[in-house]
Amino acid sequence: MSTTIAGRIAPVSATALPAYSPTTYLDYSQPAHRASYEAAIAKVRATAGTEYPLVIGGERLKGSKTFDSTNPSKPSEVLGKFQSATKEQAAQAVEVAFETFKSWSRVPAAERAAYLIEAAKRMKERRNEFSAWMTLEIGKSWNEADADTAEAIDFMEFYAREMLRYNEPQPVHQMPGEKDSMVYLPLGVGAVVPPWNFPLAICVGMATAAIVTGNTVVLKPASDTPGIAWQFFALMEEVGLPAGVLNFVSGDGSVVGDQIVRHPKTRFVSFTGSKEVGIGINKLAAEVQPGQKWLKRVVAEMGGKDGIIIDDEADLDAAALGVAQSAFGFGGQKCSACSRAIVVDSVHDTFVAKLMPAIAKLITQGDPATYGTYLGPVASERAMNTILKYIEIGKTEGKLLLGGGRVPGEAGWFVQPTVFDDIAPTARLAQEEIFGPVLAIIRAKDYDDALAIANNTEFGLTGAVYSKNPAKIARAREEFFVGNLYLNRKCTGAMVGCHPFGGFNMSGTDSKAGGRDYLLLFLQAKSIAEKI
Ligand code: NDP
Repeated sequence: MSTTIAGRIAPVSATALPAYSPTTYLDYSQPAHRASYEAAIAKVRATAGTEYPLVIGGERLKGSKTFDSTNPSKPSEVLGKFQSATKEQAAQAVEVAFETFKSWSRVPAAERAAYLIEAAKRMKERRNEFSAWMTLEIGKSWNEADADTAEAIDFMEFYAREMLRYNEPQPVHQMPGEKDSMVYLPLGVGAVVPPWNFPLAICVGMATAAIVTGNTVVLKPASDTPGIAWQFFALMEEVGLPAGVLNFVSGDGSVVGDQIVRHPKTRFVSFTGSKEVGIGINKLAAEVQPGQKWLKRVVAEMGGKDGIIIDDEADLDAAALGVAQSAFGFGGQKCSACSRAIVVDSVHDTFVAKLMPAIAKLITQGDPATYGTYLGPVASERAMNTILKYIEIGKTEGKLLLGGGRVPGEAGWFVQPTVFDDIAPTARLAQEEIFGPVLAIIRAKDYDDALAIANNTEFGLTGAVYSKNPAKIARAREEFFVGNLYLNRKCTGAMVGCHPFGGFNMSGTDSKAGGRDYLLLFLQAKSIAEKI
């Protein structure tokens, strides 16, 4: 198995690169973009049923068995067959990544950054193909999928530039009689474990942050979206990333994920997913295995129970639209999604009267492969059953205003957009992450009460406040305890570089993806003092 660094890419320099700015979204009402998306969907469909390998150190391998990746809109449509790696193969991937680290960690930062810049360029050229995979494999609407691909491009553009910045001489005070410096070194092998809900952006963001900082990666894609992760892996091969730097090891989370977290040669874990799995990973990674020479670093981004406060001095039309978009964009399957509308009592009835038509106007539900569909299916049968269970709980905890079940007559995993009113702040619907198109409306006595309700969960990811009163907005800045606070706008749609993203409390380890601190999570500093 080859673990040598063959072939070199031309380095990039900070001065030659244009300043970073976020990718703008495509407008699919334009015929050319629409035709391109339709062609991309047809192209992905033409590859249906392809069997994909594991790739460890550049070698293509079969696992113990295969599993199907299917279309949640049409579960009988098999998009690809993926390998279930064994524990031994997962361990082998860590060993290969460990050997490759010896050479990859010495590749100059400007070369490592060049792979990301080239990959971003090619992803931009084929952006609708990446997005079409998300429409078919996980049910994203065209606009949601395009935003996901744009974010993946932005992560690569941003982290490439960030690496060049961290590679510059770092300011340290000079002791008389010494030449003092500090440099950043990579850590080692990273286990990268992404979720299915931003199957391109989060997978690309976590993996390329690790790679550009000089680490090697064992990537275990989410089992609902291995096809999208494979597109990214193939792109990195195409741009010439040396074998063994990024290893593709699909398979079960409790088998492959567990093994790569546990392995003594794994140096860090980069995880995004549910609170339950994140807690388990944190615990397992803390156990020092025989032969392990370090404490593993764990970056775990986890769930949310995000709330939007609607104050009695708010623009209620803007608030209704913002809540509708935040609650039902990608079926509420965003960690940032609004699942609680916390409405001050005196404007409750007016707000609800505006919210319901706003939802009706926004949402067309159906197969997202069809142009113009806003809301598709939920991710999987398992996800659908969990959501339906919570809807039944909601029926006992509040007043059903909209939806309330599976879309009748559909073979796919379609759940109706659902709204419950008069949910108590301590109800299960107000406390537990549902991760589906279910919104709970909670009454607050006044703004003080609204802030208290907003802060009363174990999570702290995103939140928003709609109010025209500057004093109340100022209080939210101080008192609303979330990693990403939005004022008079929706609580979803963080942009790389503009809104560094990550939450407090049980929402994660407070890292900020797409921010200037993020690469530090993949680096360690070495201080060097030379007597002169
Ligand atoms: P899961 O926690 O179910 O899975 C996430 C990843 O962990 C998958 O790759 C999964 O593999 C893997 N995994 C499962 N079990 C283990 C294990 N025992 N050891 C190691 N890895 C394991 O989350 P979802 O994919 O369902 O994602 C949705 C969740 O992600 C929500 O809670 C959401 O809030 C959160 N999220 C948080 C974000 C943030 O920034 N804070 C951003 C996006 C999502 P497999 O698929 O094979 O089970």
